[in-house]
Amino acid sequence: MSKTRQILELSSPTVKNRHERVRGLVQQCNYCCGNGWFWGQDFWGEAVKVPCPLCNGAGKMQPHVSIDWTPVSDTDSEGTETTAKTTVKT
Ligand SMILES: [Zn+2]
Repeated sequence: MSKTRQILELSSPTVKNRHERVRGLVQQCNYCCGNGWFWGQDFWGEAVKVPCPLCNGAGKMQPHVSIDWTPVSDTDSEGTETTAKTTVKT
């Protein structure tokens, strides 16, 4: 079965700004399977539709990602997988 995936590729800023926000694509709410509601009971025990606590009944959600870039000193970057560093010993 096919599945659409969203991938966020991180690249350090090219402008003087260490903070950025990214909005992803609208997705179906997986908590309520896109229904937007669950069955519940009212005061008299009657079945009522209760809005999903995550999507508030919309059945869809959108990710908002905040990214903060921080400077890294040479001692901080040792041993991290994400740092491309070449050391030349003489
Ligand atoms: Zn939902």
